[in-house]
This record gives sequence, C-alpha cells and structure tokens, in this order.
Amino acid sequence: MNTSLWQGKSEITYRSAIAKNDSFDISIIGAGFSGLWSAYHLKQLQPALKIAIFEKEYVGFGASGRNGGWASAEYPTSGRRLINEHGLDSYKQLRTALTNSIDEIGQIASLNKWQIDYAKGGSLLFATNKAQLARISAEIDDEHQLLSKAQVKEMVNIPSALGGVFTPHCAALNPFLLCQSLAAHLEKQGVEIFENSEVTKIQKGQIIVNDFKVRSEISIRATEAFTPRAWQENKQIPIYSLMVATEPLSNELMAEIKNYSRATLQQACHLITYAQFTGDNRLALGGRGVRYKLFSRLSERSEVDNRMHSALERRARAWFPQLSGTKFEYRWGGPVALTRRWQSYLNFDRNSGVAQIGGYVGDGVTLSYLVSKTLAQIISNKPTPNLAFIDQKIGKWEIEPIRYFAVNAGFKATVAADYEERITNRPSLLAAFIDPLINR
Ligand SMILES: Cc1cc2nc3c(=O)[nH]c(=O)nc-3n(C[C@H](O)[C@H](O)[C@H](O)COP(=O)(O)OP(=O)(O)OC[C@H]3O[C@@H](n4cnc5c(N)ncnc54)[C@H](O)[C@@H]3O)c2cc1C
Repeated sequence: MNTSLWQGKSEITYRSAIAKNDSFDISIIGAGFSGLWSAYHLKQLQPALKIAIFEKEYVGFGASGRNGGWASAEYPTSGRRLINEHGLDSYKQLRTALTNSIDEIGQIASLNKWQIDYAKGGSLLFATNKAQLARISAEIDDEHQLLSKAQVKEMVNIPSALGGVFTPHCAALNPFLLCQSLAAHLEKQGVEIFENSEVTKIQKGQIIVNDFKVRSEISIRATEAFTPRAWQENKQIPIYSLMVATEPLSNELMAEIKNYSRATLQQACHLITYAQFTGDNRLALGGRGVRYKLFSRLSERSEVDNRMHSALERRARAWFPQLSGTKFEYRWGGPVALTRRWQSYLNFDRNSGVAQIGGYVGDGVTLSYLVSKTLAQIISNKPTPNLAFIDQKIGKWEIEPIRYFAVNAGFKATVAADYEERITNRPSLLAAFIDPLINR
C-alpha cells in the first residue's frame, strides 16, 4: 500500500473544494512545501494580501508529504558548474542561504510550537569500500569533515563503514507534519486552502479551478513533479524515489546503533540511498532506481515496486545487521522533478503575473523553502541575494523515445558503476565516463 510512514494509517479529512467563482490577490497552485511556504512568506511580507491555495488532492499529497525528511543544504546542480556559470560570489550566497534556511525552518517550527520531530544532527555520508572512500575524501570542503572508521563508529554503528564525511548542515524532520502544521498556521493567518480543487488553466489575471473562474493578479504554479503534462513543455521529467520504514526500534537496538543526534545517513554509492532515524525510533530509508516511464508518464504503480522495496529493505539490513529481526511496516514512493541540466527554477513574469517554481530533484525540503521565500521577496519588490535558480532558462528534454532510453541507460550505468567499485576498489571509470553525459 502506498501510504507513507509520515501520513500513517490515519484517514485524511479533506478541506472543502472551491464552490463558486471567486477572486484573490494571489492564487497558488499546489499545496506542497513550495505552495505553502510561498503563502507563508508572502503573508510575512504583506499581511493584508488575500491568498488562496488550490490543491487537486490534499495538503501534503505530493512529494512534500512523502519524502525522506532531510532538510539538507544540498543543491541539484554541482558546485563546479554553479561557480562556472554564476560565479563564486553567487555560489557563496547560495550556500549561505541554504544553510541558513535549515535553521529558519527549525526556528519557525519552534516559535509556532509545530510538532514536526525536527532534529539538526547533521548528515553522514559513509563509505563501505575503498573506492567510495577515495571518492568522498577527494570532495572535502569547509562544510564537510572527513571521519575515520573509528569516528564513524562512535557516531553511528554501521559495521561495514570504512569512514565517512560529515556535515553539520542537515536536519531530520517529519515532512507530512510540517505540511499540516504550515497549512493550519496559514489558515489562522487568513489564507484559504481548497482541496479536491484542480487547476486546469493558468492565464493572465485568471485561473480555472474545477470549472470555476478565479481572478487573481498573480498565480504561482507550485506543482513540481505533478505538473500536468500540457504545462511542462518537455522541460522536466518525473523520477521516482521509493522508501521503506521499520517498526519502532527498541531502546536496546537504538543504544546499539547509537546515532543519538539523529544524523541523516547516506551511503556513498552512485545510485542514491538515504535514511533518517525518526522521532519515534524507526529507520526510514529510501533510494532511486525505478524505471522512467515513456513520455514522462506519472504512474502510481511506480510508487510501489516490490523488487525495489525489497532491495531497500535488504540495503537497510546490510547497513544495520542489528535489524535482522526487525519488521518493515511501510513501503511507499513518489516522483521528483528533474530538468535537463538539473536546474532548479524560479521564474516570475510580472507582465502576465504568472510565477513558476520547482526543479528540486531530491533536494526540495530546504530548497523549496528558499525558493518560495525568494519568490515572495521578488513579488513584494524586496531585494534578494543573487541565487542561481532565479530566472533560469530551462532547456527541453530530448524527444521520446531517445529520452526514455537515455534516462534508463543512465540508471543502469549508475548501478553498474557501483558494482565496478565493489569489485575493483577503485573509483569507477564508467562513472567518470557518464558523469559529463548526466550533465549535473
Ligand atoms: C520518496 C521521496 C523522498 C524524498 N526525500 C527528500 C529528502 O529527504 N530531502 C529533500 O530535500 N527532498 C526530498 N525529496 C524531494 C522533495 O520531497 C520535493 O522536492 C518537494 O517536496 C517538492 O515540493 P513541492 O511543493 O514543490 O511539490 P509537491 O510536494 O510534489 O506538491 C505539488 C502539489 O501540486 C499538486 N498539483 C499538481 N497539479 C495540480 C493542479 N493542476 N491543480 C492543483 N494542484 C495540483 C499536487 O497534487 C501536489 O500536492 C523526496 C521526494 C520523494 C518523492
């Protein structure tokens, strides 16, 4: 069953759908982090604004309610490329803004007494073979610290870890609770949230929602991987990330595993695998690798893939053999949006009043906060830092079926690169060949 751990087994009570023609200063399409934080920051800057959020399902239905709960400072595009294309100064501004955003999310939650299981314990990238260790050791900068095998073991007991890289810039949180808390907060501020309300048209001064006309000077599309295909112009594709979560672990098991600070965990593989220990002592672990669908189709069947979910459970037990007798209670998944050059984007056309934000790939928990805040500043004519995602020109993906073959070949090559490193204990030659093609 594709229900995330975060949403749990509780039934969702839908808010009302829109039921008449209406008018607002700002209409927001999508009630994930991007839509909710946009409303939050706009209200902070202009409390008198009349804002509505339209969501075709319910608050947190999309990736925001089902992700790994890493509020990290990661960014989809590589640092090297950002410096080449935007300059060192802009890169530094982005790094500062991202790291500050993690704290801001925690501070806002704490100030408003939101129970979102926020814990800023940093993040550990660990290596289980010499090739991974060589690769991650070569990428140390002033945000990351190299840890020996003994230091890793002291922090979190992953018996196969040979060493790792630690950054303090990451918090673990419960993403669905963050969505719900934000939505309740916004409603208290007078923002109207309509669920079961699908937007079918966005045009200057007006959107169409469930066949009703809603006038608004500004519309914000915050629909990320769930963006209807007609609006995508072949500029982004959905890539699935799947997750599993254990039952709550006993205190004895937690004492064996340690990780008292709830650092988030990632293995230094080419195929991404990430995990957090939750506020109620479960291991929630996720990874990529589900086949991309021809014509960028969204598919609920891609969210529950037995083969992939079983592989994730095996992966969890390989990291922590201590979990041999532990049950897995949840399996779920969802799509993230990938643009051709891994660019996140914030585009606001003041003439038509239409804004579009997204393209976060798997880094949207913190990044959506920063992008939404920046958008609110731009709409409110406030100064912003010089951030790489502002006014990005997003290129089109290759036509099908070239796109289909290229994306899926990319996945296969990534798996093969991990295999090559396990066998040879040297950084993968295959990865060195495909990295430029992936164009990150
Ligand atoms: C399994 C998984 C794990 C992840 N783990 C992490 C992680 O640990 N850390 C991290 O930083 N990022 C992670 N991500 C990515 C992160 O969750 C997303 O980048 C982020 O949540 C995107 O937020 P959003 O609000 O832009 O989009 P979404 O949360 O996807 O919201 C878009 C919303 O728009 C609605 N919508 C679409 N079309 C319409 C329409 N026509 N009318 C009305 N509503 C519409 C959808 O129903 C949806 O609710 C993960 C993603 C997945 C799927």
